[in-house]
Amino acid sequence: MARYIGPVCRLCRREAMKLFLKGERCYSEKCAIEKRNFPPGQHGKSRRPKIQGYGLQLREKQKVRRIYGMLERQFRNLFEKAARMKGVTGDNLMGMLERRLDSVVYRMGFGTSRTAGRQVVRHGHIQVNGRKVNIPSFMVRAGDVIEVRERSKKNVSILAAAEATAHQPSPNWLEVDRETLKGRVIALPKREELVQIQINEQMIVELYSK
Ligand code: SF4
Repeated sequence: MARYIGPVCRLCRREAMKLFLKGERCYSEKCAIEKRNFPPGQHGKSRRPKIQGYGLQLREKQKVRRIYGMLERQFRNLFEKAARMKGVTGDNLMGMLERRLDSVVYRMGFGTSRTAGRQVVRHGHIQVNGRKVNIPSFMVRAGDVIEVRERSKKNVSILAAAEATAHQPSPNWLEVDRETLKGRVIALPKREELVQIQINEQMIVELYSK
């Protein structure tokens, strides 16, 4: 599946907020939002246009899509799936995004960002319920056991990530042991437990329902 490979800090600058796409750098003073909090591009510094209506909905969708590192088609397909499910579409969408294996690996601290989590998965370092899974969009379920594979337990970048994220609490819906590099999905995530960034998913629903 294709992915965005361009500069990522400009994505945060476009949304005028930290999207935490670069791991530890996002918490340092090197963060572009700390240093250059104006839109990217030639005229970024001169003005930030007033956004309303469709623009607000579009920005909200782009923000969420970028946080989870997805391209438009894949994101749209996930939205259609969320809309077909029982319950509130926005909640379903956010729940499914958070249950992606790359996001779960990041939440467990085996990668310092979702991009790093994606790489850990793609490089075959993760197993789910004892079987290797290298698909970042794999959707975890309640009760699944996610673990760094035995042969990857000495992987330098995974160990560094586990150490760097050791002080961060794990979400309530995940049980994590950073010593053994193993974790379990205790329950499906509830909407209020999701992502540290304020998201108004209703705007995405309105955008796609036009
Ligand atoms: Fe965004 Fe992180 Fe870059 Fe800051 S360092 S602009 S939070 S990706």
